[in-house]
Amino acid sequence: MKILVLGSGAREHAIVSALLGEDEIHEIMVAPGNAGIASASTNVTVAPLDANDPGAVTNFANQHSIQLVVIGPEAPLVAGVADALRTRGIAVFGPSQAAAALEGSKTFAKRIMDAAGVPTGRALRAVTSADVESALDSFGAPYVVKADGLAAGKGVLVTSDRAAAQQHASTWLAHGDVLFEEFLDGQEVSLFFVSDGHTVVPLSPAQDYKRLLNGDQGPNTGGMGAYSPLPWLDDEFESEEDFVQEVLVSIALPTIRQLAHEGTPFVGLLYCGLILTSSGIRVIEFNARFGDPETQVVLPRLTSSLSGLLLAAATGTLGAVPQPTFSTDRAVTVVLASENYPEPPVVGREITGLAAAAEVEGVHVTHAATAFGASAEGQVDDRLLSTGGRVLSVVALGSTFTEARRRAYAAIGLIGLEGSHYRTDIAARVEEQAAGGSTSDGTS
Ligand code: AMP
Repeated sequence: MKILVLGSGAREHAIVSALLGEDEIHEIMVAPGNAGIASASTNVTVAPLDANDPGAVTNFANQHSIQLVVIGPEAPLVAGVADALRTRGIAVFGPSQAAAALEGSKTFAKRIMDAAGVPTGRALRAVTSADVESALDSFGAPYVVKADGLAAGKGVLVTSDRAAAQQHASTWLAHGDVLFEEFLDGQEVSLFFVSDGHTVVPLSPAQDYKRLLNGDQGPNTGGMGAYSPLPWLDDEFESEEDFVQEVLVSIALPTIRQLAHEGTPFVGLLYCGLILTSSGIRVIEFNARFGDPETQVVLPRLTSSLSGLLLAAATGTLGAVPQPTFSTDRAVTVVLASENYPEPPVVGREITGLAAAAEVEGVHVTHAATAFGASAEGQVDDRLLSTGGRVLSVVALGSTFTEARRRAYAAIGLIGLEGSHYRTDIAARVEEQAAGGSTSDGTS
């Protein structure tokens, strides 16, 4: 199959790696890609295409006889790239601009959940500073303040400091509406569903780490690591399958049906960000695409065809393909971030040691913000340079979390990048639980 993947992050590298691991040989084009994707295989070509330009993407797909377009990030969805491709009869995995509002607008998402009877936190919308004050009074601390639109991971603040909540609200009111939400307490779970607009199939659950520092301290980030599966769900529910089934029936299916009913069918990846509260599962957010870094731990465990699944979703035939299957491997990913991230990062530094890291058993490196160096004359060389905040992630598989963690941290220790940093407690707690509580600290 000839596939075009749009995007340039670790998520897209993980998608490309999963496609390359299939028995069918695919020809994969990626726009704009990154250095890791560009050197993944001779079957992969990166194209200097503006992934957010609907006309340019459609013409490119036509010219190159692309059979399936997979949209990685939210920006092309919001720009209407999926709509343009669909209008021209090109199979695309990614929702329309209208359906992507499930991620792009928190008030839209709340309205859909309300109409579909999906459990979520009580919320109040604020348009003026008077609304802000009455919402703060109504909820009390801890306050949860959310920008309504896309905010690149910076729109949500959870704080007990009323002045900080007021400040966050007034900053984002300048850009649009602000939502206040009831504080929800519990374990967070990310669960992906593939949808063709009507039929919905689940993937395997994962947990990510949004905070910068060990012990969930420090500011929110785009994600510092993740692991999958979540064996502790077997204790809280009858089994992981029961949990997945409950989310399918009470959240994913009603949401997809509501969108279809409103004439905006959702074709693509419905990412459910959930909190398991003492009074049940609640949605904290929906995304309209694969999550990063969860994708890096979910897709390496997929043992059935990814291309078959995505094409079936894109062509409305999901009911006709077998349910996706997963290995029992434990997967852990640890993100390596640039100096100063999540504040404006120091970039353009050389990354070393990747070959040695990739030789650690069960490990592969997924690139996010990397590019090859170039001489003053513009001649590309083989130096690998950092180009953003979250630079790469080390993904390790093992038969236990102890093994997967040991491999991930052995590998990341071999990578050199001046000023870089990473969390050392990714999946520490699940390792501890699996080992019967024998690990005393949260570090490797
Ligand atoms: P979001 O961008 O909506 O996923 O929010 C980012 C993070 O803020 C989530 O992963 C949670 O840790 C936290 N958060 C969001 N909404 C709530 C809530 N209602 N109660 C508690 N924490 C929340």
